[in-house]
Amino acid sequence: MKEKEIETMRNSFKTVVNKRRSILEDPQTKKLQEKVRSIRKEAIKNNKKLLKIAENSFKTNDIDYFYADDDKEAQNIIYDIITSENLEKSDFQLIAKSKSNTLGEIAISKYLKSKGFEVVETDLGDRILQLKGENNKPTHPTGPASHLNVEEIANIVNNAMNKSNKDVNNNHENIIIPPEPKAIMETVRGDVLEKIAKSQIGISGSNAVAAEDGSLVFIHNEGNISLISLMKTHIIVVGIDKFVKTIEDAISIAKLETIYATGSKITSYINIVSGPSKTADIEKKLLKNMYGAEKVVVIILDNGRSRAIAEAQETMYCIGCGSCIVSCPVYNAVGNEFGFNNYLGGRGIAMSKFIEDDNISYDSGLYMCTLCGLCRFNCPVSIPTSEIIEKLRFSSKNNGFYPKIHEKFKNNIKEKGSPY
Ligand code: SF4
Repeated sequence: MKEKEIETMRNSFKTVVNKRRSILEDPQTKKLQEKVRSIRKEAIKNNKKLLKIAENSFKTNDIDYFYADDDKEAQNIIYDIITSENLEKSDFQLIAKSKSNTLGEIAISKYLKSKGFEVVETDLGDRILQLKGENNKPTHPTGPASHLNVEEIANIVNNAMNKSNKDVNNNHENIIIPPEPKAIMETVRGDVLEKIAKSQIGISGSNAVAAEDGSLVFIHNEGNISLISLMKTHIIVVGIDKFVKTIEDAISIAKLETIYATGSKITSYINIVSGPSKTADIEKKLLKNMYGAEKVVVIILDNGRSRAIAEAQETMYCIGCGSCIVSCPVYNAVGNEFGFNNYLGGRGIAMSKFIEDDNISYDSGLYMCTLCGLCRFNCPVSIPTSEIIEKLRFSSKNNGFYPKIHEKFKNNIKEKGSPY
């Protein structure tokens, strides 16, 4: 990342920290925090049992579901769902997507593009990064474009819009959107709405899944997930770790995630999807397909999570608020090169070991962490990331992945009593 981007990112983080300061002191937040930690602990401990319960609930609720062992399997399942739809190609060529780390993990946009589909990000921050095209890794799980200032964003949007107009009409006049947040928002909104108007497939992640109720919870401020849930088919990709017992548990997680990620008590929208659209308003006869999705499909992704649960259970307590990176001294110094894929910071590096291997974990910054423990201190569910990283270093060292200078220091200490 450029120095200027890191500085903008730090300023965005400061805004969140200042905004949430008083709400974090609220005894109600502390109570919620304890409750959510125990929900996450129980959920991970009983993960297999919860998945079984969810399977039955999904069947009852008329939700289709599939298991995917890894990213490739998830991609193939999604491709099969999309192409099995009885639609004209023009109707399913464009897919509306919402922000999701899990979708980033399986690189769904890149995959679908390689298959000839156009994926449109509906979240403003993600759409800005999509229009940027290059070096567009997010810098925060809920504020992906936190590192870009308004001038840079206006440039990105202007360049992208004018390029796409030129592709359609060579004689077009360049539009110039001023570097003002409202003007940028309105331009992107108009463009996205126009694009997804004909889309029949929406794809999203989910913040938490209630196994007993067979319900998927989504939090958002923009209203974009509401649009996605109204498309003919709504595909939802969730990690096995997202399953909790009840809808009350899922909402508690969504609430705490909002507080830690944004400093607000609640998002503008909490959507709960518990099945396809239906009505029984005529003689109590059940009819499917009223306004919302005709088909809801859940893809339950493992991709190393079972291994993480077995070897470093607390890694999977994460609720995805991004608070750990906001406080991390390394992340604040180097930005998103400290992390793996969409999983940023120390916890992201822990994930890389289980999603990929020691090699990727080493390359993602396993040895960049200072082990200061600030992330645990600022984590709503107290994930002991520095301890997890220490354990991962041990296994990575045994597999030959460690900074070679450390070996020199070790030998020097042995031979000369000093590292130098
Ligand atoms: S322990 Fe590592 S990952 Fe956590 S805040 Fe410190 S430097 Fe960042």
